[in-house]
Amino acid sequence: MPAIKALPENVWSRIAAGEVVERPASAVKELVENSLDAGAKRITARLNDGGRLRITIEDDGSGIAFEELPLALMYHATSKLAEISDLESILTLGYRGEALASLVAVADVEIRSRQEGDESGGIIRTHDGRITEHVRANCAQGTRVQVSNLFSGLPARRKFLKSASGELRRAAVFLREYAVCRPDVSFTLEHDGKVIFSTDGSGDKRRVLSRIWPEGAEIQTVKIQAGHLELECWFQSRAGISGRGDVMAFVNGRAVNDSVIKSAVATAARELAGNWALFFTLEPSLVDVNIHPAKSEVRFRYPDEIYASLHNAVKSLGSPMPMPEAPKEPARIHPSKPSGSGRISRPGWNFRDNPATSTGHIPPRQIEIFPAIEPEEREAVNFMGQNSGGYLVYDTAEGITLVDPHAAHERVNYERIKSNAETSRNVQKLLVPVILHPTLALEAHEFEPALKDSGFEFADTPSGVELRAVPSIGSIEFEPEALLRASLRALKNNHDGDTRNILWRTWATMACKASVKLTTRITRDEALSLWHELKECEQPYVCPHGRPTMIELKNEDLLKRFGRE
Ligand code: ADP
Ligand code: MG
Repeated sequence: MPAIKALPENVWSRIAAGEVVERPASAVKELVENSLDAGAKRITARLNDGGRLRITIEDDGSGIAFEELPLALMYHATSKLAEISDLESILTLGYRGEALASLVAVADVEIRSRQEGDESGGIIRTHDGRITEHVRANCAQGTRVQVSNLFSGLPARRKFLKSASGELRRAAVFLREYAVCRPDVSFTLEHDGKVIFSTDGSGDKRRVLSRIWPEGAEIQTVKIQAGHLELECWFQSRAGISGRGDVMAFVNGRAVNDSVIKSAVATAARELAGNWALFFTLEPSLVDVNIHPAKSEVRFRYPDEIYASLHNAVKSLGSPMPMPEAPKEPARIHPSKPSGSGRISRPGWNFRDNPATSTGHIPPRQIEIFPAIEPEEREAVNFMGQNSGGYLVYDTAEGITLVDPHAAHERVNYERIKSNAETSRNVQKLLVPVILHPTLALEAHEFEPALKDSGFEFADTPSGVELRAVPSIGSIEFEPEALLRASLRALKNNHDGDTRNILWRTWATMACKASVKLTTRITRDEALSLWHELKECEQPYVCPHGRPTMIELKNEDLLKRFGRE
């Protein structure tokens, strides 16, 4: 690797800034990306207590020169970028020179490394943000980074970490994506000394996918060329099965959570329900990866080509069974993450590794996944049903919980809309643009900056002004024009204040009105998805109007009330 250098200010000030390390999984992601950038062929991630106690990433990559170890820990020091023009052609996963420095700020870090060709290597240790040791040492070629006591000096941050299993699950999702994207690299994930999964690095993508996706259905693959981009699409049909499949998207080898791809996949999935792994390749200058600190969002120069490539992929894969029509009224709960947060791929594994297949054949254990990853968090609840009054009844480890579906759905929608407005502002492209009435077009023109800022997109065409995109505001689909009219009304009536604030509050009110009713019959999948989404909310216990979303009957209370204590 080239030498590590401090970036000049005019370069680092152009790099999307923000927090890189917000939880153990993000530390794992940054460190694994460093190993991949260093050309590693074997990467082992070891987590203790979900990474809250310790994270160790070991690789056999090119290593760091002894003298450069202190530099690697500095902010804005990197071997991957030197000039502004390099930002146009980023091919490495990292380039900001921030990950190690951010880790040093929030944890104790130890790096052991030996550079390719060097006789000996070195160790560097930090505590409380300062280097405490830097000595030569014998070590294997490659790098081992150990991060201990993450956020120990920041109790407020620590409190927000999920349970060990939750943190492990998040880290495992990243590792799984890398395993799919880089079948030529062998990945191992260990938790508290137990191997959670490993890949053999044989380079066979189908083999990796066939172990991650459910057994049975055939995995198809097709390559598409659309304008400036190439799409390698892997697909496993789940025809007839409701709910969203597993979607993984990679752009030039980087896992992304991108709204253009998301909405293109949503359109494609309406015709072909299934699991998708999408690998887009295009000139680095045609995609901007420098818009999000975690580098998971990108901006395409020609977003239409993303749609075109997926459209062609669906055509050549053929449409087996149509997806069941999504009910329009009343609004339903889609089992999805709040928009603007998380990644495009569904969190958690949708596959349980059972070596004894129906044919009696025991497949090679390329990936081993023990079901302990996820279920601790996700299976702790059992949906019992909906009572005649409309309340949902759940059986949990703590007791019985009654949920008001309307209040709960209101809370979930409210937080989605809020987080979308505050963070990524996801955009929903309209497949069929709406031509605006001339009066409406004039009004839209008047408030164009605020509307554009919140995700509306317009285009002047010979037939009039077209509405091409609207803000994506959670699971509820509004008529695009109704959303525009309501937003305009709010902007007209509120002369002062932050327009983005005004708008998301308006949408939140609309979403409340469109939330499922107490009388809506809820399916089991919807009920479970509502439960998990509610639990992910910042304030799960009350609806935006302050009414309770749930009532808990604790086991202890039940015992008492039945006179068993
Ligand atoms: P970035 O990856 O954006 O350059 P980091 O803070 O993650 O910033 O890393 C700083 C530098 O340390 C990298 O540019 C690289 O030169 C070096 N480095 C970090 N991890 C490794 C590793 N596992 N193997 C080799 N070099 C590494
Ligand atoms: Mg890095």
